[in-house]
Amino acid sequence: MCDQNSSTNNPSHFENQNTSKEIPTHVDLRWDEYKESIKGFKFFDPHIHMVSRTTDDYQNMAQAGIVAVIEPAFWVGQPRTGLSSFKDYYSSLVGWERFRSSQFGIKHYCTIGLNSREANNERLAEEVMEILPLYIYKEGVVGIGEIGFDDQTDLEEKYYRLQLELAKEAKLPVQIHTPHRDKKRGTERSMAIALEHGLDPSWVVVDHNNEETVKSVLDQGFYAAFTIYPFTKMGNKRMVSIVEEYGSERIMINSSADWGISDPLAIPKTAALMVSRGISHEVIRKVTYENAIEAFAKSGQLDVSDFENGFSADPSDKFHGNSVLRGGQQPKWNQNSLFID
Ligand SMILES: [Zn+2]
Repeated sequence: MCDQNSSTNNPSHFENQNTSKEIPTHVDLRWDEYKESIKGFKFFDPHIHMVSRTTDDYQNMAQAGIVAVIEPAFWVGQPRTGLSSFKDYYSSLVGWERFRSSQFGIKHYCTIGLNSREANNERLAEEVMEILPLYIYKEGVVGIGEIGFDDQTDLEEKYYRLQLELAKEAKLPVQIHTPHRDKKRGTERSMAIALEHGLDPSWVVVDHNNEETVKSVLDQGFYAAFTIYPFTKMGNKRMVSIVEEYGSERIMINSSADWGISDPLAIPKTAALMVSRGISHEVIRKVTYENAIEAFAKSGQLDVSDFENGFSADPSDKFHGNSVLRGGQQPKWNQNSLFID
């Protein structure tokens, strides 16, 4: 056992030393045993890249209580070589992915934008800016995102500013990606620029916050989103401490699950941890469901009646002639069985 009062704190490690005593380590916790504690909760994941996730994920998410998601347009892991691949990607966000999600009873929304990494390819970025208006007014598009800084280059700033103007013109909320490196400076810059362009901070969701950025984001009137992502962003023990310290106003939690090592059940797992830590159901509901709805409903594209009471899809439905069920598959099967019949 290590001494909790030892003074050998790693300054780059944000873990709150005061809480580690009360929270068992993950070897003592099994998700299966905690699922029960969140029965009846509904969850909204406002940041998840389902295009890089599997249908198994949709099944597990629906089972864990996730009723709606927002998929922000992002980086696919390698540079796109031309405008058509952006067109296909945006089309899948408003088309196939939305359909696939609905087949599992999950309402799918998206935000559309040119991501910061690809803003650095100026020729392609110019072309993408020209086609964005073709997508941002489509059904289910609840914002411009995710946009902002990655390496904090001049080109990233240029396209961030142009897209803020686009959001203003289209009267859509903005979802900001904050950089992994030099996060505090990048977050402050992102907010200052949004204010300079006259955006109302209550229309802007600043994402991937941590202990260093949360206070300033909330003080300036923005929404503060937190990504529960293993190893790199926030752990959920830290998240619990943040909610204990700052309350639930304008705070929201997401998974940002994508093609990296990530967890599409980050929200239900964090909710279960909050229940075990004695946080009220009302507060949990705000940070895992209501605040995201409040922020993105400003788009006029998000209606809670579409998912509040759940919905079931017709598995024989097709999208452009293609069904999710391939060759006569059934919509539900027993994943716990060794047999795959
Ligand atoms: Zn993302």
